[in-house]
Amino acid sequence: MELLFEKSRAGRSCSILPACDVPYASLSAEVSRTTLPRLPALDENEISRHYNALAKRSFGVNDGFYPLGSCTMKYNPKINEETASLSGFTDIHPLQDAATVQGALEILALSEKYLCELSGMDAMTFQPAAGAHGEFAGLLLIKAYHTARKGAARTKIIVPDSAHGTNPASAAMAGFSIVNIASTEDGCVDIDALKAAVGSDTAGLMLTNPNTLGLFDPNILEITDIIHKAGGLNYYDGANLNAIVGIVRPGDMGFDVVHLNLHKTFSTPHGAGGPGAGAVGCKGPLAAFLPNPAIRNDNGSLFFDNHQTESIGRIRAFHGNFLVVVRAFTYMLSLGKEGIPQIAENAVLNANYMLARLKERFDIAPSAAYAKKIPCMHEFVISLEKIKAEKGVSALDIAKSLQDMGMHPPTMYFPLIVHEALMIEPTETESKETLDKAVDALFALLERAESEPESLKAAPRTTVIGRPDEVKAARAPIVRHNFSLESQK
Ligand SMILES: *Cc1c(COP(=O)(O)O)cnc(C)c1O
Repeated sequence: MELLFEKSRAGRSCSILPACDVPYASLSAEVSRTTLPRLPALDENEISRHYNALAKRSFGVNDGFYPLGSCTMKYNPKINEETASLSGFTDIHPLQDAATVQGALEILALSEKYLCELSGMDAMTFQPAAGAHGEFAGLLLIKAYHTARKGAARTKIIVPDSAHGTNPASAAMAGFSIVNIASTEDGCVDIDALKAAVGSDTAGLMLTNPNTLGLFDPNILEITDIIHKAGGLNYYDGANLNAIVGIVRPGDMGFDVVHLNLHKTFSTPHGAGGPGAGAVGCKGPLAAFLPNPAIRNDNGSLFFDNHQTESIGRIRAFHGNFLVVVRAFTYMLSLGKEGIPQIAENAVLNANYMLARLKERFDIAPSAAYAKKIPCMHEFVISLEKIKAEKGVSALDIAKSLQDMGMHPPTMYFPLIVHEALMIEPTETESKETLDKAVDALFALLERAESEPESLKAAPRTTVIGRPDEVKAARAPIVRHNFSLESQK
């Protein structure tokens, strides 16, 4: 497909401006640009067709079932888009006088209050632009806390092997070394391994609970207590709070810092890099370290307070992706106190319904013992290891074949502790009919894997792009248009 820059023809535009009827003002030379900005010149019709064609090439929650485990691609309520496009939110500037944007500040202050209530935290920042960014900020809080206490150097973060991949990466970026601990056969934290790992150098633990196998750790209070007794802090990866929101709170499970992916659990459409908000909440003793500015209330008027002297500093320009917070706020208000727990109830019910049907014919990870014993939370993992060994059909082949059946594939090859993994998260916003259709599609593919395995290797047949060279896409991606080539044309 041609890029907008390639379709561009000098002189075209989509605006007809009236003649200027006020005196021209010129800027001084030092602030004026010397060359024109490199923008494509197109008429409106071309632009409109271009984006429409792009939209038709992609698959989103508006197209069909999107069971991408650990990524919560749920239905995005349209009312969110209405509130997020109100001019009172879109036509303001972060450098505006606070007195003129009291409504926007109130949204930030109330969202902080509600999300602290839901997570069991005392204070929160909306600056981080993504979950991983929030993890990084949260770990800097933990670091600042230990540094301020001036005790023994606490340099290690304990991360179970079922953690989301961003956890160890963020801890390393924040300057910690990682202590990896293995899970038990049941997929939970190995208490003995944890006890052996803690010490005077433990800064904290990073945990996703429920973990990436969709399991709520039954020993959670003992786990967080072991860390606290060793002088460490507990970090909760709450990217997918939809598993528990309104039912239990990380703050009550012994966690001191949490990040919430507002773009997942709180319903902002995301993908292809954003926009996101990795809100970071913490308990009182860590609040002083949160990024500046905090929002404070001075006799009923809200203002940005930039004077927290112990702050870890800014994590991002201004106040983060404000409109993502507006969407989260709309979502919370439209669901209300009664509706929010239903998020978790439906997320867990939907996942268990699919699991109950699928386990008749698929292997459930991590083990048969687990599959028999425990209900899952918001997601679960199936392993195609057996069919791979017998018929050569891989998780990738099944995922690609699902695309031909009008479904987005589940998350593949994750968590790493499961071979030929498909991680399925139906989310709370799908009907029983949709779930049944998805299960039937997976059963049909299993049958085809038995009878005509080669046909699965040829999938997908119906998408614009079939199977890209994944190594090349990762190692030699072309992410930038080469303008010099164009001018040679
Ligand atoms: C998505 C996710 C993250 C990372 O969030 P990003 O916004 O993609 O950076 C971290 N942890 C878990 C459990 C997640 O599902």
